[in-house]
Formats: sequence, structure tokens, C-alpha cells
Amino acid sequence: MSDSCALPVSAQTRLLAVIGHPVGHSLSPLMHNAALRYQGIDAIYLAFDVLPDELAVAVDGLRALGFWGANITLPHKEQATDLMDSLDPLAERVGAVNTVVNEHGRLVGYNTDVQGFLEALHAVHPRGATGAGCLVAGAGGAARAVVAGLIAGGAREITVFNRTSSRAHALCAAASRWGAGSCRVVERGDLGRAAEEADILVNATSVGLGVSVKESVIPVDTLRSHHVVVDLVYGMEPTLLVKSAVARGAATVDGKRMLVSQAAESYRLWTGKPAPFEVMRSSVERVGR
Ligand code: NAP
Repeated sequence: MSDSCALPVSAQTRLLAVIGHPVGHSLSPLMHNAALRYQGIDAIYLAFDVLPDELAVAVDGLRALGFWGANITLPHKEQATDLMDSLDPLAERVGAVNTVVNEHGRLVGYNTDVQGFLEALHAVHPRGATGAGCLVAGAGGAARAVVAGLIAGGAREITVFNRTSSRAHALCAAASRWGAGSCRVVERGDLGRAAEEADILVNATSVGLGVSVKESVIPVDTLRSHHVVVDLVYGMEPTLLVKSAVARGAATVDGKRMLVSQAAESYRLWTGKPAPFEVMRSSVERVGR
């Protein structure tokens, strides 16, 4: 079935959604609806802008309305862990939920960002994190998934920078519990040197999104061709970090690649079928062209 063929919505149509704030820029409805149509699955994926104070009510609504599942995005991923009936072990470890599956009325929280990040990294750097020194900017839900992924991928050393230093320390403490060989916090004054010394640089802050598209937490003058750069942020145009990394000849992957990888895993959890990856990828690659 072609991705342009619309299925009729009926009383049997199953419901999926992304819950976030803001959510107007989300490419998830485009990607998932393209995949559902392509596979002829009678389901529809919507987007709901939900304020943090309303998250608990919204999650109860998923349960009450019999949603098939949902994605949870910025800024709710950590708060959502307290609202699930149970958590997959990886979501529990990371402390963040990005995918909800309604299993016979019980909401189970998963985290597909870890796998999405690792797949995106492997797409530009087949060795992945094995033996690498890694600098991660950010300490929110996405950064926690990245750090868990880097540890699972065999990183040698992880350095974390965050605007709010206490959150970086909390993330490093968690990383040590998760089995990190070495995790340390770097302050702003030492960020440039830490970036120069790292093999893999990851932006897991929200800087680069929307109005901050021309800003970068990782100093772009430190970028070199030996770096592998992963920016989790995606939007209508490439971020300053991605543009600068490409210009310096670094292996670079932007947030759209990880977006598709994490979405494909969410889709598999809901439908029980492998996602049509290329259909999802081409639906988001067309945006902004
Ligand atoms: P979050 O929990 O709200 O964390 C936001 C992070 O960004 C925090 O570390 C925060 O620092 C930092 N930050 C925000 N504004 C900043 C500024 N002006 N200067 C410096 N640091 C700033 O969000 P999240 O869920 O981790 O998501 C982070 C980003 O990753 C978002 O852009 C999200 O869209 C993206 N993401 C993409 C994918 C994908 O598939 N491509 C998946 C997950 C997330 P403080 O702690 O100091 O506030």
C-alpha cells in the first residue's frame, strides 16, 4: 500500500499520540501515520500539547480512552515515569519514558531513545562508542538515554557538561551505578578542552531548537575532522553544531536520524511489526525541502 493512500477512520480505529509541550514542531505524526498507512494498519497518530500540570490527567485520559499507546516528549519524559502502571527495566534505569504501551488497560513505560541514539551513532560510525572518549552536553531525559547508550556501547570515558551543574553531577552518579568506567563533570571554563579531547560529541540539550538554531552549547571552534558529532536536536534547518561539524569534515548525524530510529522501535512495540524504516525516514527527510 502506498503512503499517500488514506485509510478511513472508523469506530475501530486505534489511537496513538504524542504528548509534549510544545509539540507543534513534532514530526512524529507525519512519520507514524505514513508508516501506518503504508502497512494498512487501522490506527491514527495525533499530537497533544499538554502542560506539565496536566500531564497526570492526560495520561489517565490515555488509559480511560483506551489508547493503543503514546509517545511522551519534552518536557515530560521524567515526570511520566511516576504515572505508568509499570516500567520496562531500561526506562526504569534511565528514569525517563518516551513510549507508552497500553497492555490490556495497564500502561507500560518504555525508553526507545537509548536504542535510537545507538543506531544513529552506528549509522555514521560503525564502531559506535566502543573504547571512545565521549562528551555529552545536557543532563535531561535525552542525556540520560545517551549516557545509558554510551555505557551499553562500551565507551571508555564519559564527560558531562550541563548549564545546571548539579544535574550533571546527578547524571554522572547515575552513570557510575549503571557501570560507567569513568564519568566526570566538566564546568563551562573547561568545556572547550574537553570537546577537543573527546572522540564523540553529543548535544543532548534543547539548544539548537527553534530560535536557538544558530547557537551551540558545544563550542563549534573546537570541532575537528576526527570528531563524531551527534546532535539530538532536529528542526526545519540544520543546527549550528551540525553545519559546523559537516564543514569541518566530522562524521555527523542530526536529530532526524535518531528520531526515526527511536520511532521505529516505538512502532514495533505498539504494532508487533517491524516498522517500515525507509517510509518513516523519507517522510521526515521531505520536511523543510
Ligand atoms: P529536558 O529534559 O527538558 O532537558 C533539556 C536540557 O537542555 C537540559 O540539560 C537543560 O539544561 C538544557 N538546556 C535547555 N536550555 C538551555 C540553554 N539555553 N543553555 C544551555 N542548556 C540548556 O529535555 P530532553 O528530553 O532531555 O531533550 C533535550 C533535547 O533533545 C530536545 O531538543 C529534544 O527535542 C531532543 N531529543 C531528540 C530526540 C531525537 O530522537 N532526535 C530524542 C530525545 C530528545 P538545564 O538542566 O540547565 O535546564
